[in-house]
Amino acid sequence: MYKTKAYSAASNTSPLASTTIQRREPTDRDVQIEILFCGICHSDLHAVRNEWSGVMPTVYPIVPGHEIVGRVTKVGSAVKKFKPGDLAAVGCMVDSDGTCPQCKDGFEQFCPNMILTYNSPDKHLGGVTYGGYSDSIVVDEHFALRVPPNLNLAGAAPLCCAGVTTYSPMRHWGAGPGKKVGVVGLGGLGHMAVKFAHAFGAHVAVFTTSPSKKEDALRLGADEVILSRDANEMQKHNNSFDFILDAVSAEHDINAYLNLLGRDGALTLVGLPSKPLGVAAFNLIMGRRSLSGSAIGGIAETQEMLDFCGKHNITADVEVIPIQKVNEAYARLLKSDVKYRFSIDMASLKSE
Ligand SMILES: [Zn+2]
Ligand SMILES: [Zn+2]
Repeated sequence: MYKTKAYSAASNTSPLASTTIQRREPTDRDVQIEILFCGICHSDLHAVRNEWSGVMPTVYPIVPGHEIVGRVTKVGSAVKKFKPGDLAAVGCMVDSDGTCPQCKDGFEQFCPNMILTYNSPDKHLGGVTYGGYSDSIVVDEHFALRVPPNLNLAGAAPLCCAGVTTYSPMRHWGAGPGKKVGVVGLGGLGHMAVKFAHAFGAHVAVFTTSPSKKEDALRLGADEVILSRDANEMQKHNNSFDFILDAVSAEHDINAYLNLLGRDGALTLVGLPSKPLGVAAFNLIMGRRSLSGSAIGGIAETQEMLDFCGKHNITADVEVIPIQKVNEAYARLLKSDVKYRFSIDMASLKSE
């Protein structure tokens, strides 16, 4: 074991503060990564405040962070994918059983024994796993991803969660040339969805409640912007969409969007509203429409997404902050006051 610097929260009401944690020495299959940037995902905030206590109660202290980019410093003797000096990324998962049907099909994110990057049982050291608000991390090479060297690293970090969360469902539902794709909610997830849908060659429409977002949506790659509060404008698009990605976590009416889907159109949820959503069955039956959800992506698909980003030079739009501003960033995140993701420059942790 070795010690590494980190930021942790001691309780659901404590701010994140400087601390020291233990990491394991790399085993034969492990890579040790010096973390350069870590994105701030809304899930980090939920976990720190124990807001998902019913599903996954937080064990304190918690070190959040699952949008990790860094440089490999050490590899185990059996590691094939990496050598010291390589760039590497880690997303939401650090382990799974590797033997169940989900793992065999490349869907590690649905493995019943999947281990999250933070707040999951740590089979090596006991206790729980610690995430990316830290100097370094040690992971099985299968869960470390290669990072195209042309990408801006601060902007590449959020690809590991926000990127693959939006890439995966759009690939699954065939967003591409000749397809009309809608994105609901222009935040950390939504802005990545717009970039991907545009790069896939689809016609992209962004739904927003605020006219002020129009210019930015167009800059990100949208072909049109639809004001969702304007019933007349919405009605013009009835039965016309092939796919809509809904990235809104606040309560909202999804029937308004189901109505816009054409025959066999699909609406996929990637946001997590805390209350159940009402669905009018009529809106699904007419047009044989689908309503579905999606969660991140498997490791192979996450690598495919990073390679795609390398080829098309896609990264998240980030505001880079030092770790010392992380509590301020959480407060701003609650007000959606960020375009569109915070990325922590981990060099700032060295001065703690
Ligand atoms: Zn996340
Ligand atoms: Zn499995």
